[in-house]
Amino acid sequence: MTAKILIIDDEQVIRDGCVRVLKKEGLDVISAPNGEEGLKLMEQEPANVVLVDLMMPGIDGFETLARIREKWPECYVIIITGFATVEKAVQAMKNGAFDFLAKPFEPDYLRIVIRRALDKISLEAETARLREEREMGLRTIMTEQSRLRTIINCMESAVLVVDKDLTVLLHNPTLLRRLEIQTDPMVGKPLPDSVLNQDLCDMVRDVTSQGKTISREFPENTIGKCFFRAHCAPVRGKDDEILGSVTVFEDLSALKKVDELKSDFVAMVSHELRAPLASVEQIAYVLRDGLAGNIDEKGKHLVGRILVRTKELLDLVKNLLDLSRIEMGVQIQNMESVDIKGLVEEVVDMLQPQVQSRNQSIQHACAGELPEFLADRDNMQGVFKNIIGNAVKYTPEGGRIDIRTSCDANFLCVEVEDSGMGIPHEDLPRIFDKFYRVKGKTRGITGSGLGLSVTKSIIEAHRGEILVQSEEKKGTTFKVLLPLPVQAN
Ligand code: ADP
Repeated sequence: MTAKILIIDDEQVIRDGCVRVLKKEGLDVISAPNGEEGLKLMEQEPANVVLVDLMMPGIDGFETLARIREKWPECYVIIITGFATVEKAVQAMKNGAFDFLAKPFEPDYLRIVIRRALDKISLEAETARLREEREMGLRTIMTEQSRLRTIINCMESAVLVVDKDLTVLLHNPTLLRRLEIQTDPMVGKPLPDSVLNQDLCDMVRDVTSQGKTISREFPENTIGKCFFRAHCAPVRGKDDEILGSVTVFEDLSALKKVDELKSDFVAMVSHELRAPLASVEQIAYVLRDGLAGNIDEKGKHLVGRILVRTKELLDLVKNLLDLSRIEMGVQIQNMESVDIKGLVEEVVDMLQPQVQSRNQSIQHACAGELPEFLADRDNMQGVFKNIIGNAVKYTPEGGRIDIRTSCDANFLCVEVEDSGMGIPHEDLPRIFDKFYRVKGKTRGITGSGLGLSVTKSIIEAHRGEILVQSEEKKGTTFKVLLPLPVQAN
């Protein structure tokens, strides 16, 4: 925007001279021969800078200055004064004039004085803009803070924010209620002053010192009456340094209750199904073996189908029972010394009929002698039956299965590698979920999607780990790591 300049002077030569010089500067310049005319022009459209002659007939320069200052305080007034009346100019400056020009003046001097006024105007405009921006920023921050606080305060989950020294910075009312914290106020005090559970304090300390996110479950009556899952994540600053952490506590009590009910129900139904199914299997054997009278080939074939289907159902029932027992925490009961290599060989022998009928080859290589491992034998057999059975099931005819057993100072390791269909990358994280089966690929291959979930639970109940690597159409390797007891030196 071009600045507007008004020149009020009764001397036409001065007026015209000023207009000419300033127009050349690209400014929008108007003029008036006296105070009244000048004020009228100001009413029509106020100028940014007004040059006023002090000595004029009618309303003099002082009066004009006073009226302009009163009505347009943001306007800059520059006084034009006669050479001998500098004291008056000083007086005008005291009354609010921005500067003065003593007559006669050089065009350059006029330019300098005007430029100074215009610079001051743009500087003030810039300052006002910055002030406005800053105020808007502050208003936005305050709105955000208030919004965040409202959200946190309304949350059903408990929220805790600490700095890197574990001093509490923020929490919601739910935290005090659900974790039954008595310290009031909690903010500004070290976390261990209010939270007496050592594991929780250690978890928050680990997150703030190591910068990793941790999720941990706290059963009933450890940090409150309910069963909580605490998710703790680090908060990072500009240069990625850790400033503190945020912990959110989720109440899982209701879910746990439903889960228990479900496990009880599944256990009950599976148990009730097992007995009649076992009878059906027995009767089918009696029929197949001709113990209830001769049957022809077609009958034998159909009874054979009944046996296959009944076995699948019995396997499913067994998996469901295992799973509900593991979920109830009663599965790993009969611990004994187990020869893992021998166990794997037993399973390989058991699966020979399927391997042969599918023209597959199966090899078992054992690197050296393996120590015995303290485990629930039946469960461990179930683990290898499932992993090696899957390798046979999901590898096409003529494929190859390699089993390697080995051990080091810390672990017994069993690897089962197959040359089968492989598992798509996106399915890998879910194959240990209950009832999960890879879509499309498993069509025509029977299974419940429970085997790996049971397998993982059993291995974890033995403090072990199961890992999987797979490439579609190339094959899959499952690796079971079982921890050996620490040897005393
Ligand atoms: P299922 O009864 O379906 O075999 P599991 O829990 O044992 O159930 O396995 C889950 C899914 O993981 C299977 O349905 C299959 O899609 C995939 N899977 C498991 N083992 C293999 C393997 N060796 N090769 C390819 N896919 C496999």
